Amino acid sequence: MALIVKKFGGTSVGTLEKIRNVADRVLEAQRSGHDLVVVVSAMAGETNRLVALAKGVTEIPEGREYDVLVSTGEQVTVGLLALTIQSLGGKAISFLGHQVKILTDEAHGKARIRSIDDHRIHEELRLGKVVVVAGFQGVDEGGNVTTLGRGGSDTTAVALAAALKADRCEIYTDVDGVYTTDPNMVPHAKKIDRVSFEEMLEMASTGAKVLQIRSVEMAAKFQVPLEVRSSFNENPGTLVTMEDKQMESRMVTGVSYDRNEAKIAVREVPDRPGIAGKIFTPVSQASINVDMIVQNVSKAGTTDLTFTVPQSDLTQTLNIVKKVAKEIGAKEVETSTDIAKVSVIGLGMRSHAGIAAKMFETLARENINVQMISTSEIKISVIIDEKYTELAVRVLHDAFELGSA
Ligand code: ASP
Ligand code: MG
Repeated sequence: MALIVKKFGGTSVGTLEKIRNVADRVLEAQRSGHDLVVVVSAMAGETNRLVALAKGVTEIPEGREYDVLVSTGEQVTVGLLALTIQSLGGKAISFLGHQVKILTDEAHGKARIRSIDDHRIHEELRLGKVVVVAGFQGVDEGGNVTTLGRGGSDTTAVALAAALKADRCEIYTDVDGVYTTDPNMVPHAKKIDRVSFEEMLEMASTGAKVLQIRSVEMAAKFQVPLEVRSSFNENPGTLVTMEDKQMESRMVTGVSYDRNEAKIAVREVPDRPGIAGKIFTPVSQASINVDMIVQNVSKAGTTDLTFTVPQSDLTQTLNIVKKVAKEIGAKEVETSTDIAKVSVIGLGMRSHAGIAAKMFETLARENINVQMISTSEIKISVIIDEKYTELAVRVLHDAFELGSA
């Protein structure tokens, strides 16, 4: 007998019929003798609708009330799933984040989980119930509802699996697993059987949308292997797990892209120690993630500082940066949202030379200009003009021979 955490995403619970399918799958697993904790997202499109409502009121909604609003989608689906399981003769109980004390910090809209009280969950499992937990939400020390950032239900599932010392954590979605690149863009993209935590982390941070970044961080930290698979068929999925020899022999594992970043350039910044800190400290204090940073010499004694942030944080970042720019006497602040980040990822980069060269040559052959570059041990990312995203992804996917024949 095993304790299994299963997470179902928005498309898997998008209609009553699909919720029925989830209930069937869960009850089947329970009948084969397992304890089941099920995490669900809001119905497909619901969180987008709620976010749009908040933005209809004001461009930068106040955090506490925003979370009260956008967390409601999951309340609907936990209730519906528990009711559906009961209607099929099963036993189930639903919980919201605060009811099982998914304690987080106070960063509304992107809160981090600190701890979970597993007591009540174990109690209900002992009574033979399927425990259904709302994804994406928690509660802070002050009792305020918090949310974990878009896609946060994945993180709820992994955190629960870690806290409950579950035997497995399965993430059910509308695709068969993690692909070498977005199959909607490159139809011959291949499903990856096994991928390391580290590669998955790089893929998620560079735009692959299957798993929330934080869920992968947490899975790596607590060594919770994840299986990503489809809720609509029985195909084997992708196992996200510790690295092994076979993974390392692959030169490149995947190509990802992200069109949701924005570029900010601070022109003619006085070139003095401490200036970068003056710009980036208030940005990070606002919990905004700066991704790429490039600094180059402009006129004598000044430099240009260019960096990227998520487009959703652009307005807030600009408010901060414009203020600092004035204080430090920078010339101007420019922005662009017509950019895309395209990345190539693989553990094999540690041992194979020439991957960067091949990437740049491949892009050059298509006349795609590279605006910024950043690398890690197992990743190379470039910022390019957004209109070339699809072309870049396709030629790189081909150049590294990732597709099925
Ligand atoms: N419903 C939330 C969202 O759409 C959380 C999730 O689905 O993981 O971001
Ligand atoms: Mg998701």
